[in-house]
Amino acid sequence: MNATQKPYLSIVVPVYNEAENVVPLYKKIRAVCESIGETYEVLFVDDGSHDSTFEVLSKLRSQEPHLAVIRFQENAGQTAAMAAGFEFAQGERIISMDGDLQNDPADIPNLLEKLDEDYDLVCGWRKERQDKFWTRRVPSVVANWIISKVTGVAIHDNGCSLKAYRAEVIKQVPLYGEMHRFIPAMSTVVGARIAEIVVKHHPRRFGTSKYGLGRIWRVILDILAFKLILSVFARHANLNGQPLTQHAYHNQMKAKFNVFRVAAFLSLPFFIIGALLINVATIAAVSCIGLGTSLIGISLITGWSLAKAQRETADLSPLASFFIYGCAKRPIRRFGPAGAVLSALGSILTIGFPNVGPILINIGILVFCCGLFGETITYANAKRVVDYTVEIFLNAKDSVKHFEDVS
Ligand code: UDP
Ligand code: MG
Repeated sequence: MNATQKPYLSIVVPVYNEAENVVPLYKKIRAVCESIGETYEVLFVDDGSHDSTFEVLSKLRSQEPHLAVIRFQENAGQTAAMAAGFEFAQGERIISMDGDLQNDPADIPNLLEKLDEDYDLVCGWRKERQDKFWTRRVPSVVANWIISKVTGVAIHDNGCSLKAYRAEVIKQVPLYGEMHRFIPAMSTVVGARIAEIVVKHHPRRFGTSKYGLGRIWRVILDILAFKLILSVFARHANLNGQPLTQHAYHNQMKAKFNVFRVAAFLSLPFFIIGALLINVATIAAVSCIGLGTSLIGISLITGWSLAKAQRETADLSPLASFFIYGCAKRPIRRFGPAGAVLSALGSILTIGFPNVGPILINIGILVFCCGLFGETITYANAKRVVDYTVEIFLNAKDSVKHFEDVS
């Protein structure tokens, strides 16, 4: 490959403390790629490992011209690592996979073959998943069932990292937070045509899993958030089976209108309940109407700031900046639990204090909605959110040049 020639295939592998896995995995990937016979690059994204992962990769790279290593200064999460890999990948076709040898590179040719049947995204399905039954496989089946109902994307295994993509499509899909688990649903926003095939799965031999049961609650909040995101953005998708050639969600006026529409729609029940209660429970009625009005206010401000934020050269509005950078956690993770607690408290108080309880419930709902609206802004600005700091990027000469072009 010379500096102007781009590889056909890019393999993206996020790794966090996987020192023992990277060498055997790279060798397997290399053997499979050589057998395919197309030009390729393998991008390992070291997500701020504390073990010797980076040292092992650096040494390997000095012997392997197809290997590129991106290194984060600190742990930014699997989604950010994948997003960085997609950003720097130069191939027309991209494969993502875990770096712990649980996915099998031998499945890559099958994924590519399926992709060539005119799909934009082919997902692996770990039909015979080699993980713990109660803590991993059962929650995963439930989560995938809910995701398929909520999003209408009937994929069996959203959580499988082994996937194949057309580069021009995946590079348009905004990824932030832990959205790597929802790539199929997110891809529908840009009109991706999605397929799935059964892939192999092996038990972990070296190192440990990076996630515990805590992911269940986070996944529930994520499902709520992206349901809203889909309802705001999905209309922009070209759902007629044609791949998109430009950023659909950059249509500012449509986005503005859609956010306004969703928030205005949410506010309607509060006005109706408020009106019904006006002679029975005045305080509750007033607070309902107040909440409805706030929602409309939020819808306007959000629509405005969203549209503004989407202009890539423009400065972010204070509201957009707050949701993107001011929240230590993602908006839904920050406001969601607080809103739920306030509403629950309000429900309990209603028994003894019928004047205070409903107000608290409404405030709780409002706080929750703030989280959801913040999420739409965050989504629209996902590229800014994925604020990973790349410390070093090593590759054959052509990729170093590519990195210099990008930075
Ligand atoms: N990973 C990462 N950053 C993180 C957590 C995980 O890059 O903060 C990588 C990890 O090294 C592995 C992949 O993401 O290559 C999947 O992680 P893991 O195997 O722990 O997840 P599981 O298979 O248990 O769902
Ligand atoms: Mg794993």
